[in-house]
Amino acid sequence: MFKKTITLILLVLFATTLAVANGQEESSDSQGYIGVAMPTQSSQRWIQDGGNMKAQLEELGYKVDLQYAEDIVENQVSQLENMITKGVDVMVIASIDGEAITNVLQKAADAGIQVIAYDRLIRNSGNVTYYATFDNFKVGVQQGSYIIKALKLESGAKGPFNIELFGGSPDDNNAYFFYDGAMSVLQPYIDKGVLVVRSGQTGMDKVATLRWDGATAQSRMDNLLTAFYADGEKIDAILSPYDGISIGVLSSVKNIGYGTTGQPLPVITGQDAEVPSMKSIIAGEQTHTVFKDTRELARVAVGMVEAILNGGTPEINDTKTYDNGVKIVPSYLLEPVSVDITNYEEVLLGSGYYTADQLK
Ligand code: BGC
Repeated sequence: MFKKTITLILLVLFATTLAVANGQEESSDSQGYIGVAMPTQSSQRWIQDGGNMKAQLEELGYKVDLQYAEDIVENQVSQLENMITKGVDVMVIASIDGEAITNVLQKAADAGIQVIAYDRLIRNSGNVTYYATFDNFKVGVQQGSYIIKALKLESGAKGPFNIELFGGSPDDNNAYFFYDGAMSVLQPYIDKGVLVVRSGQTGMDKVATLRWDGATAQSRMDNLLTAFYADGEKIDAILSPYDGISIGVLSSVKNIGYGTTGQPLPVITGQDAEVPSMKSIIAGEQTHTVFKDTRELARVAVGMVEAILNGGTPEINDTKTYDNGVKIVPSYLLEPVSVDITNYEEVLLGSGYYTADQLK
């Protein structure tokens, strides 16, 4: 009798274990296959974005195809075509050129694949279900406000101070939001003559930097210094929309003696809190950056994937701002954080985004 009971218990336990194992296997098989297309590995932020997306999706049991296109639009288009062929269920795309993937997204829609725009809006397509991003206008406001604060304009400094402006890539919708946000703060001071753009180069048509390329920005800065600052006038501030551009511009001003010959470096903004820029901030060179927690962005995008495949409701907090030319894409906007030498430890180390060693 005792033996029989034990055998029965063991049998039941064995059967339950089998059922659980089967269940798990089934559920991981049935979670789905997700294509994640990222622009480039030449910038650290996108490596983190891709890594976070892959890790978070895999943890939920999804299979992931993660691709980087090294900032070449044609690469990204063919990567997306391959994902369609491989039979992904959803594509999450951080586009290189927001206007260049209309046709491939139509193919995706024809195959029943839904698309989430990641960080950058995909334009001219009705085939975008959701958009996960940060408050891009606010990023620009934070950059502009930092310059105002650093030059003490609110506490009455009269200047005039010389400033030059850099914009992001003209094929990236975000670049216009960053620029407009920054100018919403800077323009009144330019109008009053407290801030002076000696080159006269204002407007995205004049200040944009194709593909956010640091070397391109550096050579534009070289030209500006030669053409407009050779008479001994000094530059006091540079609006830079992205850390890679900040580092390029910084090299340019350092090459002609700023920071070493008694002439202080100008205030230089940035974005993404990339490691080289954090090291530069700690060394007292780049002045500012904007931290956008890519772990959070991945979490929001993964929630959108889940909503599409499992029918839940995604986090959406903006249904007005992001008109892509065909539709207003329901969006979730995360909060960017302004960072400089005074708060980087709390924001970046305190949140576990970096360890102190990584910034040495
Ligand atoms: C992103 C920024 C990034 C820039 C360059 C933009 O679309 O929003 O965070 O600095 O691309 O990679």
